[in-house]
Amino acid sequence: MQPAVLTGEMKVLVVEDERKIASFVQKGLQEQGMVVDQAFDGKEGFFLATEKEYDVVILDIMLPGRDGLSVLRGLRSRKNNVPVIMLTARGELDERLEGLNLGADDYLTKPFYVEELVARIRTVVRRANGDTSSLVTVRDLTLNLITREVKRNGISIDLTMREFALLEFLMRSPGRVYTRIQICEHVWSYDFDPGTNLVDVYIRRIRKKIDAEFETKLIETIRGVGYRITEKGS
Ligand code: CA
Repeated sequence: MQPAVLTGEMKVLVVEDERKIASFVQKGLQEQGMVVDQAFDGKEGFFLATEKEYDVVILDIMLPGRDGLSVLRGLRSRKNNVPVIMLTARGELDERLEGLNLGADDYLTKPFYVEELVARIRTVVRRANGDTSSLVTVRDLTLNLITREVKRNGISIDLTMREFALLEFLMRSPGRVYTRIQICEHVWSYDFDPGTNLVDVYIRRIRKKIDAEFETKLIETIRGVGYRITEKGS
């Protein structure tokens, strides 16, 4: 069977009582082709997590009814090993550590960007599926989605989280041209001002790191449209 992470039909349960966060997470994950169920309190979250099969559960710690740590404890004591990513508020360090001790797979501190959550989800689901095909490659450029390592022609390159997200987005569909707005919506996800030149700034930075030193340029500007990464090189 193909792991869900490769077929794109990942089933995610989001347990979060703050509606605004729950809804932006749901939207962001659905845009990635994931199927999202929501629960707004701990009891409902626990019920769904035990009744249905999910590839990953996003679990807030502070929840009405039953808190996230109790939900996690309940799942693990029933030998339910669904990957769990905890959402924590700043200052919840003890809870975070307790969560990891109880068998959470990862945690994310609020506020966070949805693409960071997507990256974490991919990582824990791949790990859970024992999947090692974590590399995205275009010509001699390689991204490792688990270790976040970037290499061109074997040379390691440092990218920030957001540069990585942008490059990954382009590299997943080599040859396909994306507009600045598409790139922005994917990489910055929300509250984005279409008047900014954010994308151009980031493309310039990424080019400096992955293309400047190499004869073959992988990032191509399509005038009046946007950018793409090309397998042919230019
Ligand atoms: Ca909460």
